[in-house]
Amino acid sequence: MPVTNGADIMAANTYGFIGLGNMGGPMCANLIAAGLSVQVFDAADTAALAPKGSAATDNVGALAAAVDTIFLSLPDGKIVHAVCAEIANAELRRVTTVVDFSTTGPEAAGQALAILADVGITFVDAPVSGGKAGAVAGTLTVIVSGPDAAVGDLAVPFRAVGGNIFHVGPNPGQAQAVKLLNNFLSATAMAATSEAVLFGQKHGVDMSTILDVVNVSTGRNTATMDKFPNRVVPETFDAGFAMELMTKDVALYLEQVGVAGTPDAVGSTMSALWNAAHDKMPGSDFTKIYRYIAGEK
Ligand code: NAD
Repeated sequence: MPVTNGADIMAANTYGFIGLGNMGGPMCANLIAAGLSVQVFDAADTAALAPKGSAATDNVGALAAAVDTIFLSLPDGKIVHAVCAEIANAELRRVTTVVDFSTTGPEAAGQALAILADVGITFVDAPVSGGKAGAVAGTLTVIVSGPDAAVGDLAVPFRAVGGNIFHVGPNPGQAQAVKLLNNFLSATAMAATSEAVLFGQKHGVDMSTILDVVNVSTGRNTATMDKFPNRVVPETFDAGFAMELMTKDVALYLEQVGVAGTPDAVGSTMSALWNAAHDKMPGSDFTKIYRYIAGEK
């Protein structure tokens, strides 16, 4: 069900944010713009990455001792588990709720829950969709699973970062399942659109014309409507989502499809394709898969 209302948290609540990268940096900036007090930490360089108005802390333990709620936006499940363990083991721990905006998969969310539940910390799973542009604009889709009361208490910060907020179930991991299937569809749209555009170009039709036709026809998708016109046609390849992370998400989707025992014919093909593209173009934006599929050496 969409979360459109909810008890507003008390203004005195203090927040922490760990992971100030492409997504975390602008999301944290939007929490501050909404009037929330936020202390931050990033393993790379907290002072350089801290959004204006936030307070930098020295390490995860210091943050866990200083705030009530910590948000995470970290690369993968392994790192989330390491950070959750640091939070759980923090001396003079104050934090009572951890909210994970990262994409980690259902199993990893279950493990994070176990690490935190052991010391009485509530865990809310809240992966996001909408890319860096959505993070900057505060219009992300926030897919949430966790206990009703905790999710209700997060209405203000969720509204600060998100345009559409969905509470999809009571158990951490359910939101990750929806996030992974979404990214699988996004990755498939990007790869399939690359092949389709190359086919049309081979027949002498230019890319913009192909996109104009498809975008008012039944083949339109997020790649034809957004990634191609905004990142591939201008050859900027700057969606702000690393090919490494998309490859991780598709592999995670396929792995979790294996656990669930649901069909994987398209998923296995996509995972092999994204792995191959990533091997060839490490460090690229994910929209560059078009160049890989086009046969760029
Ligand atoms: P990023 O690599 O830009 O940022 C991750 C940040 O985490 C970095 O600043 C890094 O220094 C920090 N970090 C790594 N290990 C740490 C640790 N142990 N302690 C503290 N900080 C640490 O990644 P991103 O693109 O911002 O993505 C973050 C998460 O959001 C990922 O799980 C990704 O799959 C997901 N996501 C990304 C997008 C996107 O378009 N970029 C969209 C939706 C979801």
